[in-house]
Amino acid sequence: MPTQDATSDTAWVICPGCGEVLYRKRLARELDVCHGCGHHHRVGARARVEQLLDDAGLEWVDVPERSADVLNFVDTLPYPARLSRARRATGLGEGVVVVTGTVAGNPLVAAVMDFGFMGGSLGSAIGEAVVRAADLALRRRVPLVLVCASGGARMQEGALALMQMAKTSQALAQLDEAGILTISVITDPTFGGVAASFATLCDVLVAEPRARLGFAGPRVIEQTIRQKLPPHFQTAEFLLERGLIDVIRPRRALRATLARLLAAGRPGPTPSGTGPGGAGPAAESVIRDPARLPSVDAWTAVRTARDLDRPTTLDHIAHVFDDFEELRGDRVSGDCPAIVGGPAVLNGCPVMVIGHQKGHSFGELRARNHGMATPQGYRKAVRLMRMAAKLSLPLITLIDTPGAYPGLEAEESGQAMAIAEAIRCMGGLPTPIVSCVIGEGGSGGALAIGVADEVLMCSNATYSVISPEGCASILWQDRAMAPVAAEALHLTAPQLLRLGIADGVILEPEGGAQRDRALMAERLRAALTDSLRNLSLIEPDELRKTRRARFRSFGETADIGEAAFT
Ligand SMILES: [Zn+2]
Repeated sequence: MPTQDATSDTAWVICPGCGEVLYRKRLARELDVCHGCGHHHRVGARARVEQLLDDAGLEWVDVPERSADVLNFVDTLPYPARLSRARRATGLGEGVVVVTGTVAGNPLVAAVMDFGFMGGSLGSAIGEAVVRAADLALRRRVPLVLVCASGGARMQEGALALMQMAKTSQALAQLDEAGILTISVITDPTFGGVAASFATLCDVLVAEPRARLGFAGPRVIEQTIRQKLPPHFQTAEFLLERGLIDVIRPRRALRATLARLLAAGRPGPTPSGTGPGGAGPAAESVIRDPARLPSVDAWTAVRTARDLDRPTTLDHIAHVFDDFEELRGDRVSGDCPAIVGGPAVLNGCPVMVIGHQKGHSFGELRARNHGMATPQGYRKAVRLMRMAAKLSLPLITLIDTPGAYPGLEAEESGQAMAIAEAIRCMGGLPTPIVSCVIGEGGSGGALAIGVADEVLMCSNATYSVISPEGCASILWQDRAMAPVAAEALHLTAPQLLRLGIADGVILEPEGGAQRDRALMAERLRAALTDSLRNLSLIEPDELRKTRRARFRSFGETADIGEAAFT
């Protein structure tokens, strides 16, 4: 895949995106992105390091140039001659550089590949360099960033090259076990052995626009099984839609994105260290004694909870949290727009936030599937929950759904299993979890992200085993009986506080949260901070035990009641 290589001396470059002739110096100033068409030109490893890392404190780590010609491999050129040619072309000893330093002050170790060096092919030296970078990240307990560009394994090293996939994957697994954040930056192209090992095993996959990632390249597929491939096949856009990568970022925004993600991966201060002190606003807005709550008419609450103007999860995230970075996809089969999530900062404390997302207009609601998540949504949530556990991030979930998406595709992809898995995963999470029902808490689709240490509800929110309409049509055979069913279901915040399903109720502004979104967000922020501050003092084992006991206790009184009858 020849384009002009980064070290060429020519002053001009032809853009493969638009065919324009570009002045090389200007192109370099613009991070090698064409100012005309936005095409992201390939970047050499050294230039990439300079683009991404802070100048201050940057250190180049020695990596082995151990590309031994064990097989005495000769194609049209002997392997040693190919290596010499690549070294001359790139000025590098091998196809990867390893550095330590910071991105906007956030420390990291990075291994950056260079496609100009034998197509970024994965040989023993690259495998060893990636593993050493991982070891260094482990010793220093700082995140590892891998900038990937590769055509695949290096044929000249035969099966030794293949083994580098296992070797690097093990190194990443060790970082998982140690709770060290890993980020992969996917650049064009990333294929074969690199794609099927370290490039896609990271916690977060960030891709440049149009960057291609895959195992088998399109030519291989077309030649071996003669399949016709769709347009944009294997591009970042194609992969994002299918839930396989987290985000696409233009090169200009990569640094800022990395900085936010790296900040999330640092062991954060507990909210008690930086949160608002004492029992100020939280104590005023969270009611824990049911007697202090004004009663709410059930049907009024149902309608208020569904009000189109009511703040959604993304509205709350914008007001309540800082530095939210939305991560997408379940890494298996899709991305569900009805669940959003990612790392964010609450009062200086890095957290993971996940929530159902509705919308304010019909178009938005349709795009978000009315907040009804598919199995892909719950699997994404579980992926983020596990990431929270790995990075010791407290988890905050915002519940607002009429229920899980009822439909053929959802059933075909295992809706029941996806919900069950989310419920089980939350129950065993070693980090503090606070959930807040901000609107509708509909059935299993709500509980799937609601198995928390502390469950809060906004005062007009509802939480129920079924929608009042659903209940009315089944038990009364008349949907018009929904208001009666709503009353019977005991779905309002005061009723659920009395039942112990909710631990606290956040008072909404007069007339509902939609009347003053900013005030609502302020109260939510105070309440979440307060809850997290208390929970962060508890050891992980104790948290799990208490959480399990909390859910174990529901219905215990029913047992006692029954026993009394026998
Ligand atoms: Zn162009």
